[in-house]
Amino acid sequence: MPLTIEKFLRFATQKLEATSPSPRLDAEVLVMHICGLDRSALITRAHAELETAQLKELDYLLALRQRGEPIAYLTGTREFWSMALNVSPATLIPRPETELLVEKALALIPLEAAWIVADLGTGTGAVAIAVAKERPRCRVIATDFLPAALNVARSNVKKFGLTNVELRQGDWFIPLAGEKLDMIVSNPPYVCANDPHLQQGDVRFEPMSALASGADGLNAIHQIAAQAQQYLKPGGWLLLEHGFDQADAVAGLLRQKGYRDIVSHRDLSGNHRVTECRR
Ligand code: GLN
Repeated sequence: MPLTIEKFLRFATQKLEATSPSPRLDAEVLVMHICGLDRSALITRAHAELETAQLKELDYLLALRQRGEPIAYLTGTREFWSMALNVSPATLIPRPETELLVEKALALIPLEAAWIVADLGTGTGAVAIAVAKERPRCRVIATDFLPAALNVARSNVKKFGLTNVELRQGDWFIPLAGEKLDMIVSNPPYVCANDPHLQQGDVRFEPMSALASGADGLNAIHQIAAQAQQYLKPGGWLLLEHGFDQADAVAGLLRQKGYRDIVSHRDLSGNHRVTECRR
């Protein structure tokens, strides 16, 4: 039976109502993805009929979304810092609040500086790529312990034609042996291992190693803070993303380890989300 785009959108929205917080938007994103339309074309072509092949693919993706699969894994991309980054289930899906980490890093790096910056646990490469793009004279070393994540990051480095990002595989500082860095940035895992939100919504499908970090969520941050000093130049910066309720704990542990100029910043939702400090 022939189906127009608008009719499919209504049908899909209804199907997704029970399991998605954003059913209409999800349906629109899937149609734009399968039909190769941008948002304005989606509106002007609302009464165009879907081809059988398109409808087949849409039904398939719709079923996966009904089961809870994140939209970004179904389309393979997510917008970050105005770039359509490739994502896969091997990587965390970049979040809007992580743009704050990029903003605060850029606020500290002079425009023409040729700093060496490390991004630990880079995942899709989002933070490293945004910093490298905005500061072309900097060299950004992005690490991840998951080879599958580094493949995604590599595809993104290529997609945006960056020549100043270097990808290295390994746990936290292991691939940084011998480096003296001007800045370290990281969006590490920081969710409490028993946080019930790990069993809900999109995060169920994301790599646990990118999300959870011990009983208080601070294992990775502890580890990074303990070692970063050895790899930073004197006065070098460390910037960490953390949970909305972790700013005090993070500032406390940074102070205890001897970092100075500790400041935490609020994200657009008003939560303290990024803390910076220097060696
Ligand atoms: N902000 C993410 C969430 O709460 C967690 C990201 C992370 O642990 N780095 O789902």
